[in-house]
Amino acid sequence: MQFEDLGLIPPILRALKDQNYKSPTTIQQKSIPLILSGEDILGNAQTGTGKTAAFAVPIIQHLAGEGHNPQGKRTISSLVVTPTRELAIQIGESFTAYARHTHVKNTVIFGGVSQGSQTQALKRGVDVLIATPGRLLDLMDQGYISLRDIEYFVLDEADRMLDMGFIHDIKKIIAELPRKRQSLFFSATMPKNILDLSHQILRNPKKVAVNPVASTAEKIKQYVYPTNKSSKKELLFFILKKLDPEQILVFSRSKHGADRIVRDLRKKRIDCAAIHGDKSQNQRQKALKQFKSGEIRVLVATDIAARGIDIDKLGYVVNYDVPNEPETYVHRIGRCGRAGETGIALSICEPEENAYIRDIEKLINKKIQHADDNPFPQTDKPMSAAEKKEFQKEKNRRRQESFANRKKNRGSQNSNFRRKRR
Ligand code: AMP
Repeated sequence: MQFEDLGLIPPILRALKDQNYKSPTTIQQKSIPLILSGEDILGNAQTGTGKTAAFAVPIIQHLAGEGHNPQGKRTISSLVVTPTRELAIQIGESFTAYARHTHVKNTVIFGGVSQGSQTQALKRGVDVLIATPGRLLDLMDQGYISLRDIEYFVLDEADRMLDMGFIHDIKKIIAELPRKRQSLFFSATMPKNILDLSHQILRNPKKVAVNPVASTAEKIKQYVYPTNKSSKKELLFFILKKLDPEQILVFSRSKHGADRIVRDLRKKRIDCAAIHGDKSQNQRQKALKQFKSGEIRVLVATDIAARGIDIDKLGYVVNYDVPNEPETYVHRIGRCGRAGETGIALSICEPEENAYIRDIEKLINKKIQHADDNPFPQTDKPMSAAEKKEFQKEKNRRRQESFANRKKNRGSQNSNFRRKRR
C-alpha cells in the first residue's frame, strides 16, 4: 500500500516524501482511513511503530481543509496529551514536518522550563497543542488555554501516563473537553485500568492493534554478556571499543548509576552524557541534541527519561543492567531498529539478573543468544564481601529513588489540586 492510496491531500503527500517515508507503516494503514472518516480509535501500539504520523496526518488533513480559515483567529482545535517532555517535543517536531506545506500550526508546552515563551506562542494562536498534563492544567488555570473548541483529542502512551501518576490530571483534562469531539487513545499495553479509562474518553471506538509488546523484539538482534558485577565496567568499555565509532544508547536502572557510567566513560575520553529525572529540561534537551548530531557517541539514560525519545536509525542499545520487568527490556530495545531498520541490543548481565533474562525470554518467546566474544564470562564465584556491600548499597539507592519518584508524582498531583481549589 502507498500513502497515495489513503486519500491524503497533495501538501501532506509532499511532506511525507520530504521525510523520505516510502510507504505507510501498519498502524498508519489501519488508522488513517478510520480517523479521516471520523471514528474514535483505541490504538494498541507503542512508540517506534509510526503512530505519531498515524494520528497527526489525518488531524492535519482535517485542519488544512475548508472551514478552518488561516486568516481568522486560530483556536486550539486539537489537543495531544503525552506523558513526557521529550515525547511532547518530538510529537511537535513531527506535526511541524507533516504540516510544513499547509497553514496548520502547532505548539508544545511542558513543565520544567519557564512558561513565558509557551504563553507567547499560545497568544499568537495555534491549531494543535501538544502538552504534558501538569503544565497544561497550570496554563488552563491561569486562563491561557481553553479547551472549548477542541475537535480532536489524542491521549498518547496512556499506560505510561498512569504509571507516572497522572490519572487525576487526565480526569481533570477530560472534564474540560467538549462532548462533541473525536478522540484517539493510544497505549502500548491494555490492562483493565487502561481500558476503564478509555471507556470514559471514547465513543464506539474502532480497535487498532499493532506490534504487541512481545513481537517488537523480533526484528532486533539480541545478545547477552553474562558476567560478574566486578567486570561490568570493563565489559562496557570492551563493547564500546568493539562498536567504535557507532552511536550507542546505554540504559542504566538508576539515575545514580547513569551518572557513574558517564564519569567512568569520560575518564576513558569517550564523549557521552546522561539523561534522567534529576537533569534539568535544558540539560536533557542539550544531551539529546548532541547525541542526535553525533557530537557525543554515547547517551546514558534511565527508563523514564528514555521513554519515547526518537533517534533516527539508532543501531545499538546496550543494557548496562537487565531490567527486572521484561516489558521494560522490550521498551528499551525498541529504541533501536525503528520503523523497519535492524538494530542490535546487547545486555550485560550479572548473576543476580540471570532470572530476569529468563523472564524476558518467556515474554518474547525466544532465547537470547550468548555473545561469543565475551572477554569476562560469568563465573560461579560467589560475590566478594565488597561486591555484596556494593550490591546492597545499589539496591537501597534504587529503593530510595523509586520512593522519591513516587513522592514527586504525588506532590505534583497535590499541587495541581491546590491550584484548582484556589
Ligand atoms: P513513532 O512511532 O511515531 O515514534 O515513529 C517512529 C519513527 O519512524 C520516527 O523516526 C518516524 O519519523 C519514523 N516513521 C514514521 N512513519 C514512517 C514511515 N511510513 N516510513 C518510514 N519511517 C517512518
